[in-house]
Amino acid sequence: MPKLSDAGEKAVIQHLISLFDPKSLQDIGDDCAILDSGDSFLLVTTDMITRATHMPENASPEDIGWYAAAVNLSDIAAMGGRPIGTLFAIGLPADTEEEWLDRLASGIHECCSRYGVPVIGGDTKENPSLTISGTAVGRVPKSQILRRSGARPGDILAMTGKLGRGIAWELSGDANAILRVEPRVHEGQLLAESGAVTSCIDMSDGLSASVHHLSKAGNVGFSVEADRLPLLDGLKASDREKAMHWGGDYELLFTVNPKKADSLFQSDLGCPVTGIGTVTEDKAIMLLKGDGKKHLPDRGYEHFRGARS
Ligand SMILES: [Mg+2]
Repeated sequence: MPKLSDAGEKAVIQHLISLFDPKSLQDIGDDCAILDSGDSFLLVTTDMITRATHMPENASPEDIGWYAAAVNLSDIAAMGGRPIGTLFAIGLPADTEEEWLDRLASGIHECCSRYGVPVIGGDTKENPSLTISGTAVGRVPKSQILRRSGARPGDILAMTGKLGRGIAWELSGDANAILRVEPRVHEGQLLAESGAVTSCIDMSDGLSASVHHLSKAGNVGFSVEADRLPLLDGLKASDREKAMHWGGDYELLFTVNPKKADSLFQSDLGCPVTGIGTVTEDKAIMLLKGDGKKHLPDRGYEHFRGARS
């Protein structure tokens, strides 16, 4: 019988989808599930982090708690939503010290407070290894929802913030660098309100994987300009290619209607926004670098078999 490591996360998810009612999952493929709620949509997402795959050895419990909350809020941000509540189911070894759990909770609380979101529930269980499954609920006006589909040829590809948290962590060994991510909650809502954004995703699996997601969802291609990719301070131009394939930046990657781009780029979104490419009719995803161009492969992180080569 094949193992999950032979299939990889995407194929495992596709298989699971096939086992459920296809009607209830027809909208699957965005960063959150979408529920009809009068004039707005309710957004619901769940994202699990584990000791083995997400946490550097030297990570503090506060940093882990922050990260568990931030990754869930990021999915609400990616759809332009306002988060309204979070829940956390936590599995812990029985010999965990109470103080450690208090510190984990304070990290969760710090992140949720920063973004004005109450923790509204959760669960704890004994488990051999630390596992935190977070859930976030949000709301977005129906006319403003941002989805992965919707990019049109001629749109501008843009991103919030900078790339390279994974590399910054590799260079510094500081768990903060990779765990203290800033979910773009405020920025996501401003992008949604602008009416200029045609599709959006958070780059949790890396820039290359995220461009491929937008391409598939929108049935379009992309030209990404390598030299325009904004890197975190301290990284070198030679880090760019690696940074494109690392997960963990949690910035928003989105497409903008070119007619509305000037006013969006001139407005204050609260963080840097950089145009990094264009949407193309040709379905290929190309990386332009200097005078040359080549295909940009989808090399983001995939669970069950790690980063692909
Ligand atoms: Mg996401």
